[in-house]
Amino acid sequence: MRELFEELLQLKSKGRYRHLRQIENISNNYVKVDGRTLLMCASNNYLGLSKHPLTQKAAIEAITQHGVGSTGARLTTGNSPLHEQLEKEIANLKGTESAIVFNTGYMANLAVLTALTGPEDVIFSDELNHASIIDACRLSKAKIVIYKHSDLQDLEMKLKQEVYSRRKIIVTDGVFSMDGDIAPVAGLVELSENFLAWLMIDDAHGTGVLGSTGGGTADYFGMTDRVFIQMGTMSKAIGSEGGYIAGSQILIDYLRNRARPYIYSTALSPGVIAASIEGIRLVRDQPNRREELRQRVMQLREGLRAEGFQVPLGETPIVPVILGGEEKALAFSSKLESEGIFAPAIRPPTVPNGTSRIRLTITATHTEAEIEQIIKGFRNVAREVGHYEKG
Ligand SMILES: *Cc1c(COP(=O)(O)O)cnc(C)c1O
Repeated sequence: MRELFEELLQLKSKGRYRHLRQIENISNNYVKVDGRTLLMCASNNYLGLSKHPLTQKAAIEAITQHGVGSTGARLTTGNSPLHEQLEKEIANLKGTESAIVFNTGYMANLAVLTALTGPEDVIFSDELNHASIIDACRLSKAKIVIYKHSDLQDLEMKLKQEVYSRRKIIVTDGVFSMDGDIAPVAGLVELSENFLAWLMIDDAHGTGVLGSTGGGTADYFGMTDRVFIQMGTMSKAIGSEGGYIAGSQILIDYLRNRARPYIYSTALSPGVIAASIEGIRLVRDQPNRREELRQRVMQLREGLRAEGFQVPLGETPIVPVILGGEEKALAFSSKLESEGIFAPAIRPPTVPNGTSRIRLTITATHTEAEIEQIIKGFRNVAREVGHYEKG
């Protein structure tokens, strides 16, 4: 216990101790934190579906009819008609033959990489991929080759060195979670085909947001049929919970037989499944939500840049404002709170040293006036903190 205690003390002395905060959801855009009402600018609820009356109604009805728990794993007692319907809806949204649902996106990543690869195989992984991919790679026992962020030349060089392995998988985030940039999918598709590798896209942040029908990153590039594995989650734009893999029928049948997180964990609750089905319907049938989101995102990105903030070019709702040092990012975030804005600082080890930032995420339910309020808040805080990096 003494060892653990000392490690925690060390974290505290480095300012890296993680504190929980109680966030009480008041309405779509407002939360109560420590008694203060703040404009939420950091949630993954990109289309506002987590509090949509139809997703809420679907969950309540499913719970009333089927109960709160699913009572077993999918292969034992937990496979309701709702679960199968959701998988059809996902396959339809993603433009694939089939799909399989897992309890979380994290589990979907663990499931697919551990089921498909072993010591004879190589996984090529972007250096900025999500932590769940990193953990999945380690657990898979495959050889792991990390390539430079979205660097096709570096990846090609590394693919050339591994031509004799059994299977090769190239895995990338579709939209990178800390920078909001989009993976170079056209180039990745080409490399995967030239080197007989499978391409896997983790589309946690792209699904529902990118593409004309909300199909995500592959849809955005018009390359759905050339991406072998599309992974995603219902916990972001869909507004609910649960991960998935979408792909060919053979891939999905294989995972139902071999993916341990699918076989050995209780199926998601009927309420969650019903909310996801409704969420996907709204994603598909209400493209105006995506359009409104896009307009708000551009308003914020352009507004912050005009104020001189360092906001990398991009078009996704993940808007990083790079501030540099950890202290500065922390001070900035806490002063934003005084301006009524909730936007936590992101620091190492989550992002590289010297790139501490405020990571804003915008949702379709933010109004034009609220975006102006965010920009004004940044302007006021920058004046107070003194100086900030020029973009
Ligand atoms: C959120 C996220 C996940 C995990 O999804 P959960 O459903 O929250 O477990 C995986 N990959 C990326 C890129 C994510 O942003």
